[in-house]
Amino acid sequence: NKLAAMPARVFKKSPRALTDTEALTTAPFEMKARLLANENPFGPSEAAKKAMTDAMALSYQYPFRSVSDLTGKIAKYEGISQRTIVVDAGSTPLLHAAALLYTKGGKSVISGDPSYDDLPSYAEDFESKWIKVPLTADYKLDLDAMEAMVDDKTGLVYICNPNNPTATVVDTAKLKSFCERVSKKTMVFVDEAYIDYMPDAQAASMISQIKAGNNIIIARTFSKLYGFAGLRLGYAIAQPDTIKQLKRYSSGGFGVSAPTLAAANAAYREEAFLADALKKTNASKEYLYAVLKKEGYEYIPSSANFVMFPLKMDGQKFSAEMMKRGVGIRNWKFNDKDWCRVSIGRMDEMEAFAAAFKEIS
Ligand code: PMP
Repeated sequence: NKLAAMPARVFKKSPRALTDTEALTTAPFEMKARLLANENPFGPSEAAKKAMTDAMALSYQYPFRSVSDLTGKIAKYEGISQRTIVVDAGSTPLLHAAALLYTKGGKSVISGDPSYDDLPSYAEDFESKWIKVPLTADYKLDLDAMEAMVDDKTGLVYICNPNNPTATVVDTAKLKSFCERVSKKTMVFVDEAYIDYMPDAQAASMISQIKAGNNIIIARTFSKLYGFAGLRLGYAIAQPDTIKQLKRYSSGGFGVSAPTLAAANAAYREEAFLADALKKTNASKEYLYAVLKKEGYEYIPSSANFVMFPLKMDGQKFSAEMMKRGVGIRNWKFNDKDWCRVSIGRMDEMEAFAAAFKEIS
């Protein structure tokens, strides 16, 4: 029976901690400052909203053409073939597709610790082994240590660059040579969800490694700088044969609604909007840095739309106290410290964060 053959999400006997994405579903919807999901409150753009509204009239039609319109635009901008792109409803289904494809059957997945835990948690649900490699002293992915863990059991190495939750980036030249070497032994998955926040995004992207013929997968999303988190649109870039495999395990683009595709077609590389969203994000980030400095807190300099800093109190208590004041943030525990990850929002949200933070800290 076809249904029985489909991969089900098998939870382990002892329930694991919620992933970053799953934790969101338990958060209240209305907050004074929603700074817990690394969303972009300045989006989506007006052009995207209009395109979506216009597309509603034709939404009785299946959305075949607009998928290829979008992949055509991406291919042109990046200088790659359309055959190297697959679109889905956010990058999450593509992370899951890669986990299924490359880690099932007792293989292991290697990730940084802490890093974005969605793909490895999903793999772990399918009895894959999750090998967590601590970050370097400056909170970056330790590429050398990760490479040293690769063996014939490794199914996939997950590289999140910029890394969530530390907002740090690894050296581009080092990552390129890592991809070149490690992709000969196992699948390298580079999650570039936040790359649009880097000033030199195109130079920092590992798309160059795909152009050079290496067999890696890159995930991108419209959820961050484009402000599409609720619309759900992401894509992966890989060699054509790998894309064919990913399409077998994902919706291959057919899971994205026509209005969302229309919006994405209008928003893709809308440079004035992107520059403005980036400028507003950076202004809010500078404000946050100043607040933290003034209160006597250190922070990890951020290459994304969120900032990680060490707390001086219990993280869960801090989160609960902030939430009581209408401010949603996330807390982490690593290196024997409690940390707060705060997303960069609108200035009024950062002011609400500052007011609550001053009361608690
Ligand atoms: N990758 C990273 C690193 C993320 O932080 C997120 C969202 N928090 C995702 C992927 C998934 O985003 P989406 O499914 O909205 O594309």
